[in-house]
Amino acid sequence: MIIKSLEPPILMQQTEALSRRLSPHHSKKAEVNESARRLRAGYNGEKSLDFHLRFLQDDAFHILHNIRIPDENDFFQMDNLINSRQLILINEVKNISGTVIYDEFGQAIRIRENGKEENMGNHLEQVNLQHSRLLRLMRNYNLPPIPIEKLITYSNPNTIIKNITNNKSVANMVIHKEQLLTRISDFARKHHAVCYTDEQLQRLSDLLIALHTPKQVNILEKFHVMCEQIQYGVICPDCGALPMIYSGAKWNCAPCGATSKVAYLDALQDLCLLFGGEVSIRQIMQFLRLDGRYITYRLMKKAGFERLGDNKGSRYILKF
Ligand SMILES: [Zn+2]
Repeated sequence: MIIKSLEPPILMQQTEALSRRLSPHHSKKAEVNESARRLRAGYNGEKSLDFHLRFLQDDAFHILHNIRIPDENDFFQMDNLINSRQLILINEVKNISGTVIYDEFGQAIRIRENGKEENMGNHLEQVNLQHSRLLRLMRNYNLPPIPIEKLITYSNPNTIIKNITNNKSVANMVIHKEQLLTRISDFARKHHAVCYTDEQLQRLSDLLIALHTPKQVNILEKFHVMCEQIQYGVICPDCGALPMIYSGAKWNCAPCGATSKVAYLDALQDLCLLFGGEVSIRQIMQFLRLDGRYITYRLMKKAGFERLGDNKGSRYILKF
């Protein structure tokens, strides 16, 4: 069963919001767009794994997506954790297109179409480190020993993976997603002894959920973009132009003539992703390009956002 489902990562949503709101001439535009594209491809790759994971016997496996756990060395993150009464599987998901070559040290090198080589990091060391950090955490919380297995799963079926030195660890750990279920069955056969009761398995899942801490990123700082370089306004859902103008109780797009009653909700979500979830009425007015406080209050009330304080300094909590 899915204990923690796969959600669109906040960092991806923030990067996409920034990409939408930088002018085409901004010096960071290409870098932000490329980053947004990569994050989206990674997310889609993980989503495509869900199809395979759905075939796992429901109550025997606890599946957790994107877990980020604090420890004495900051945080460690795992794409995919599949827990059962016999074993734990750490599954690192990779979405890399083209050809990936693993050298004798487990270093992954991507060969681009133009022949250029790109170092993708040492995936084996990455999962080995996750393994030792998870193990330490489980010892700290007095969870009984249980075998831990690791896989590096490529979500793009077109990726060509080459293990040029026949490194045994690479052969054992690096797979395409189509092999995932077979590998999980192999692990279950290898570790047939039951180590955890149902209660202990549940305790492990509950602990990981309780410790999970999503990463908070100031996306403007990350890309060194100034607040005043962000394009304000409601974006037209039909043609992408901005700003839509609010009049006659609806949002109107001058270039294409489209109208909408709710287009401002997407703009408020962008405001939240770029500037944080607690904003002043003045910030909202500016971002939506509204002229009056009264109409801003009314639109916020209609959308049902929580308001803190009654006076001019009141703030809103933006939650999506
Ligand atoms: Zn339009």
